[in-house]
Amino acid sequence: MNRILIVLMALSAAFCSKNPTSDSDTVATAEAVAEKPAYAIVIHGGAGTILPENITGEQEAAYREALNAALTIGEDILKDGGSSRDAVEQTIIFLENSPLFNAGKGAVFTSDGHNELDASMMDGATRNAGAVGGLRHVKNPIQAARAVLEHSKHVLLTGEGAETFARQQGLDTVPADYFYTDSRWKALERARAAEASKTGALLPVDYKYGTVGCVALDQQGHITAGTSTGGMTNKRFGRFGDVPVIGAGTYADDSTCGVSCTGHGEYFIRYAVGHDMTALMAYKGWSVEEAGQHIIHEKLKAAGGAGGLIALDKNGNITMPFNTPGMYRGYARPGERVVGLFGETENR
Ligand code: ASP
Repeated sequence: MNRILIVLMALSAAFCSKNPTSDSDTVATAEAVAEKPAYAIVIHGGAGTILPENITGEQEAAYREALNAALTIGEDILKDGGSSRDAVEQTIIFLENSPLFNAGKGAVFTSDGHNELDASMMDGATRNAGAVGGLRHVKNPIQAARAVLEHSKHVLLTGEGAETFARQQGLDTVPADYFYTDSRWKALERARAAEASKTGALLPVDYKYGTVGCVALDQQGHITAGTSTGGMTNKRFGRFGDVPVIGAGTYADDSTCGVSCTGHGEYFIRYAVGHDMTALMAYKGWSVEEAGQHIIHEKLKAAGGAGGLIALDKNGNITMPFNTPGMYRGYARPGERVVGLFGETENR
């Protein structure tokens, strides 16, 4: 009997360690906090077909290093008593400046070969929000989103108007080719070829979304959520995804949680994922983890919507569910740091 049990346990351990798509609670959720931490921060760098066999050791190390560096930037601000708004902005600026992620430098290409960037930020204390869509020259779209939040009467500005506003706000602009990277151009060529041969699904099988996001809880108890992206490779017709849509890709409410999403944006818009998180918590009394699991693994999965989200609640509880094989992600709380890529978490 004992022997059978041992064999079963060994088999299950082997399966779990070899199955990077495994997304059990321990993978996606930080241990619940017994006491509210002084601060908390959680980030993502996109969800997708992120598998150990598809990535070299060097690439893996580069992603881990970038995620750790981003967390350190945000954590240092929060540790010093800085605002969640500053922590989110500075963390995302770092990720936007890294060519590893599909945001800022490293953004994917549209079907006609441009980079059009979207970003948003929401303040959980006031539920004020700012978002921008279709930027071609603003170096750090998250700064433009913050400027809309703080210095405009509006929530969402797009295209030329958004760029004019960003310039008026004194934000850095760059020539369009600043956003060019070889790897994203090749991804566009692959997507075009797949489309031309009609063998391609809407999303190539090697799809990595690569959007970046950050949610932070500061020592004053305020939550800010932010998200930034180049959108989806081969997008067209002035398409915006979920990222600049408040209530879809980004949402924050100090009384429930902050959320940032990544994945196939059309589904996140249709299912109002960001707002659904807070609604499930407020109206049903669910935990942030229960809400995230339900939306990502039940609602979206049933609909065919691939992706994931990061969220943290007012008590510093964190969840990071995804229904793709992997998601670049990490979080930090006092004395605690986790960074993960695949269906696993690791302390580093
Ligand atoms: N959600 C983004 C979009 O649809 C893509 C991503 O997460 O990478 O634009």
